Amino acid sequence: MKKAFLTGPVAKVLALSCLGGVVACSPGESVVASASQSIPEVQMVDYFADDGLGNAVAVIQHPAGEHLDGITYISYQGPYEDPYVAAYNHETAEWSGPYQAGVSLMGKDPTRKIDNHGKPTLIIDNAGYIHIFFGGHGGMRDVHGANPLGNHHYGENRHVVSKRPLDITEWETLDTLPPFGTYNQVVKMDNGDIYLFYRHGAHRSDWVYHKSTDNGRTFSAPVSFLKHKRRTDLGAVDSWYPYVTKGKGDEIIVSFDYHLCWDGASAPDERGHTANRQDLFYMVFDTGDGLWRNVQGEQLPMPLTREIAEEKALVARSGDLWSFNASSTLDPKGRPHIGITMGEDIGHVTGGPKQMRHFRWDGEEWVGGHSTALPIGTGDIDVPGQNHVRFLLKSQTDDRNGIIAWWESFDGGQTFAQSEVLLRRPNAGFAISSTIRNAHRDAQVIAAEIPRGSVNRRMYLIGDSGPLGRPKSDATLLNN
Ligand code: ZN
Repeated sequence: MKKAFLTGPVAKVLALSCLGGVVACSPGESVVASASQSIPEVQMVDYFADDGLGNAVAVIQHPAGEHLDGITYISYQGPYEDPYVAAYNHETAEWSGPYQAGVSLMGKDPTRKIDNHGKPTLIIDNAGYIHIFFGGHGGMRDVHGANPLGNHHYGENRHVVSKRPLDITEWETLDTLPPFGTYNQVVKMDNGDIYLFYRHGAHRSDWVYHKSTDNGRTFSAPVSFLKHKRRTDLGAVDSWYPYVTKGKGDEIIVSFDYHLCWDGASAPDERGHTANRQDLFYMVFDTGDGLWRNVQGEQLPMPLTREIAEEKALVARSGDLWSFNASSTLDPKGRPHIGITMGEDIGHVTGGPKQMRHFRWDGEEWVGGHSTALPIGTGDIDVPGQNHVRFLLKSQTDDRNGIIAWWESFDGGQTFAQSEVLLRRPNAGFAISSTIRNAHRDAQVIAAEIPRGSVNRRMYLIGDSGPLGRPKSDATLLNN
């Protein structure tokens, strides 16, 4: 609590933690008592908003936030599945927002379940304007017409930009992209070029990228890099789930797993189509020459098919386990490390619980992937040292506390152990984002607390000093 929740003119405050039992308050709340009797008490909470909706953040739609010049800008899925943006000033410890940045086509029909695919992705261009991509899950045929690169499902992929640099209060819509995108992932290169990656439709669609060289004001036509393709041997379609992020220099790295997209009637069991995923792959996009290569440096024909992926880009087979790809990064020598969750199929549509696993390229071969002490849960990977590998993961303890904690290895991923717990909540789970771009150490991920029996989420901004809170009156946005 060394970063006391100082707000405005309130000075010389004393933070009394709930854990100390000094002040009666519910978990997650504390009371800042003023040294002066004349200043009213300010009740503090450790979340910044209570209006996150459903899976309000995730690893795949990323980055969800960016730190620039002492301010962390973050986005999440809020009421009616619309994108919301807030900002935290690390110097003054003050929040602004959340502000609604746009309107999603999804989340408005009360007869439909929360879709969750249109969560916002955020990037700041080199002129300081903040861009948000959101709202897509394949588009709709009757609204958007044929999808030339895949199928439809719902929503409309949208792009908004802040009206003024580094100002989250007002937004305008840009008409730059097809409506079909799902799972936006955005990478800004050192020269300011912006690459937007997404799946061009629902689960039977190519993955594509668009390039912008004018701070996101216009984008190139989509270019396919992972090909969806009907199988000739099974009643199913090849499909993919990549995680795309900046590599070294002009390179972008991609780790991905495979989705065997069954036609319902052809599926091997009564579940029909499932969310099964399997196997792990890796490749590199050199934005300098526009070519894709495998980890050995061999050029790959694009868009990549399953056959070529299995021959040239395979990291590991998952065997009987089902996977759910997480993220990847490079170590100080420029070698890739990948986090991916895997678990047994115990009959759910999603298979079953999946444990985080770690793979790395040692210069000659892929190693790792064995079961370690890493938990059932997900989150982003970071490799600060040659043998120092760490994950910031959401998971659950044996006594059903939801935690967000560091898990570290000092032997290159052979063994992991839990280290600092940054947030703990009883009888709750979390959704967690990828690491915020250029993250401040006090604001590394966004998390949504998933209480039992509610779709509303308390939203947290979390770093090495724990969650960054604010007065309860400012964090209370719903009519509770
Ligand atoms: Zn499918």
